[in-house]
Amino acid sequence: MSGIYIHIPYCRQACHYCNFHFSTSIKNKGTLVSSLIKELELRHQELPKSTLDSIYLGGGTPSLLTRKELTSIITKIDKSWQIDTSTEITLEANPEDITKDSLEAWHTAGVNRLSIGIQSFHEADLKYMNRAHNAEQSHQALKLIKESQIKAVTADLMFGLIDSTMEAWEMNLDTILSYDLDHLSIYNLTVEEQTVFANWKLKNKLQEPTTELQYKQYKLADQKLHSAGYDHYEISNYAKPGRQAIHNTNYWNRKSYLGVGPSAHSYVNGVRSWNIANNAAYIKQMEEGNYSPSSETISEADHYNELIMLGLRTKKGIRKSDLSQLSSNLQLHFEQAVEPKLKENIIKSTEEYFQLDPNHWYVSDNISSELFFVK
Ligand code: SF4
Repeated sequence: MSGIYIHIPYCRQACHYCNFHFSTSIKNKGTLVSSLIKELELRHQELPKSTLDSIYLGGGTPSLLTRKELTSIITKIDKSWQIDTSTEITLEANPEDITKDSLEAWHTAGVNRLSIGIQSFHEADLKYMNRAHNAEQSHQALKLIKESQIKAVTADLMFGLIDSTMEAWEMNLDTILSYDLDHLSIYNLTVEEQTVFANWKLKNKLQEPTTELQYKQYKLADQKLHSAGYDHYEISNYAKPGRQAIHNTNYWNRKSYLGVGPSAHSYVNGVRSWNIANNAAYIKQMEEGNYSPSSETISEADHYNELIMLGLRTKKGIRKSDLSQLSSNLQLHFEQAVEPKLKENIIKSTEEYFQLDPNHWYVSDNISSELFFVK
């Protein structure tokens, strides 16, 4: 079983923290959608023709697609592979695009899960991040979604925002919890290269919150969401029982997926490949039928490092049967590296998994790097 990711590289405006690939000019959107269809055609043999676990329309802003564009993409996937009622079809949507009509159109096209970029309910935060929506639009969107036929919904919130306080963060958490969604993603704002925030930081114009405040906000989210019945199943993700995202879980379990569209990454049979991150050049490649991604075969050491990094971010942990397939050299390296962590009860060994103690999830990247194999 496998999945397909479709990258829609357009946004209304550039959020100050975002370094994804997108353009704010949508004049070629129709042509780009035709190119996505072409890429699906060119690559239909890369994944077995069977029922898909998940289709994920991300970006960028997939909620900018017209009804016709969205339907053409999903219909094409259905013809080349197979979609059934068990296939999770997620659309990332921004609050300003959510109306009764758009929800109805997405549902008719086959979308059965929405991922909403709320980020904050405070106007000052939204302006500072240069989001295209305001808090009232988020409330309207969430109310409309609750009345719609799309029942699986996740929302993104960000903590560690500039000038944020514990009170402001608690209000954001209480507000999102009042909508009783089945899934939430809670991210720490990070300053990525080539963003407006990175530029401000370079000029000493960015006031970042203290690490202590970020950690306290992370812990408050953990407490509140746990009390509200959410399972913390990955460092940034919380789900009501049985409502984990299939798309994300497959990614952490390193299942095959095809990434379609400019800048999209794929992972098929141990080979990672990625498309050109330029809309015009991508369209040209597809028009010429000249699909030429960059690619790399994952070395065994990289494979091991990914198993560690992804496993320690999840509640389930690192699967022992995955480790047992590695060369004896890497298995020995892991045994030696994990020993002190087991003694300190930072990592626990169960019958099937090595699991990071949840109190250390916040620093899972540091712990992973101590277990990495570096040549
Ligand atoms: S965060 Fe989302 S909406 Fe904002 S610029 Fe990035 S992709 Fe676009």
